[in-house]
Amino acid sequence: MEKLSNPQVTIEIIKKYNFAFQKRFGQNFLIDGHVVEKIINAAEITKDDTVLEIGPGIGTMTQYLAESAGKVYAVEIDKNLLPVLEETLGEYDNVTVINEDILKVDINALLGEDAKNLKVVANLPYYITTPIIMGLFENHIPAKSITVMVQKEVAQRMQAKPGSKDYGALSLAVQYYAEPYIVANVPPNCFMPRPNVGSAVIRLTSWDEPPVKVTNEKLMFDLIRASFNQRRKTLQNGINNSPNLNFSKEQVIAALKEMGLSESIRGEALTLEQFAQLSNILDK
Ligand code: SAM
Repeated sequence: MEKLSNPQVTIEIIKKYNFAFQKRFGQNFLIDGHVVEKIINAAEITKDDTVLEIGPGIGTMTQYLAESAGKVYAVEIDKNLLPVLEETLGEYDNVTVINEDILKVDINALLGEDAKNLKVVANLPYYITTPIIMGLFENHIPAKSITVMVQKEVAQRMQAKPGSKDYGALSLAVQYYAEPYIVANVPPNCFMPRPNVGSAVIRLTSWDEPPVKVTNEKLMFDLIRASFNQRRKTLQNGINNSPNLNFSKEQVIAALKEMGLSESIRGEALTLEQFAQLSNILDK
């Protein structure tokens, strides 16, 4: 069939199935072929790859993925889209549609052997961007890269460095697992219906080895969360006020001193390397 990235084709399908967009599922479908091609090119999909697509919608990007990848697994929560996908993806025999919530499905079990050459590609439902991305990393889904459409501000936060206003726990978490690169900004008129925020495509290329050595990952992430929970406070206060952490004021100040840092330093000034160092000192 003709490509759904042609807005006319999308409108016909929506009408034919009397499909009602669900705001609560973050449904904004792509209607711009150039944008879809940009995503596919940035993801560098080959026939050796298996692609996990989160939220195929009516299958707009899935049609392109099916043509470039070896296999595609598309996880969609909205069961009303299943009959639509059956028609729009009917001609491709390398696509498996799974009607599940991506936050609940066991991705490693789902993919089995196919997880070997895995890339994740998606136009994400924005209301759960962070849990989806963190879930992929924390569950050690062996994806070589994650190329996704997200809200523009979220892409900026993922890529931010210390000293920038966008820098925070998400920047550090993403950069611990991957190298972020913003591929393109995408305006609202490339979607149906139009979202009321700007969007961006970001590619996260997974590191083979984390860029810093930490003896206790959980402790490092607890420290990061504690220091950004109270942005206007000092790092020491943030850590000592956190219910998840049990260090005395003296211990934290001594650790900062060992690192050559002032006891009044704020979390937003620390690099990933410094959070790793702090965590390793406090873990002793
Ligand atoms: N990929 C399509 C496109 O680009 O046109 C649709 C993208 S739309 C922004 C997000 C899609 O994710 C919707 O189809 C929505 O139903 C689906 N979705 C929302 N929450 C989900 C969840 N928890 N698990 C799986 N899919 C979900």
